[in-house]
Amino acid sequence: METIPSFTVDHLKLKAGLFVSRKDILGSGVLTTFDIRMKRPYHDAVMETGSIHALEHLIATYLRNDPLWGDKVIYFGPMGCRTGFYLIMVGDLTSQDILPLMERTFDFVSDYEGEIPGATPKECGYCVDMDLEMAKADAAMYYNLLIAPKKENLVYPVKRERKPKN
Ligand SMILES: [Zn+2]
Repeated sequence: METIPSFTVDHLKLKAGLFVSRKDILGSGVLTTFDIRMKRPYHDAVMETGSIHALEHLIATYLRNDPLWGDKVIYFGPMGCRTGFYLIMVGDLTSQDILPLMERTFDFVSDYEGEIPGATPKECGYCVDMDLEMAKADAAMYYNLLIAPKKENLVYPVKRERKPKN
């Protein structure tokens, strides 16, 4: 089997940030998959499942209700390694394009009070595993990164060229 593109990124060189993971052509349009990397791999602690679960519910709800971008959201969900999320959007987009959306999303979550949307046994497969306080802390940390990103937080590390051997 061929290695899928997201595994070819050197995760040892990757910083936390907002990256374009891949683009797919679908019919006459393009889908952009974003790597919302909230934690730097092998450097920061990964998120607790209760935090990542609360973030998933809150962010998915917020994004789909956004008046500007809501109808362009195809999918939002957590990475199995618990360092971030994937967001799939309609359009040929850059990290800069959705930076304002991500800033207001994580600003919203970091101050959130009240019931977590969809957190009932009827609506969710394991609604007891939710930690709003941890989610707010993780969101605030990521928000602080988003408001002053460096290039290394917006562009994947450059891959080493493989040279043919003589
Ligand atoms: Zn759930």
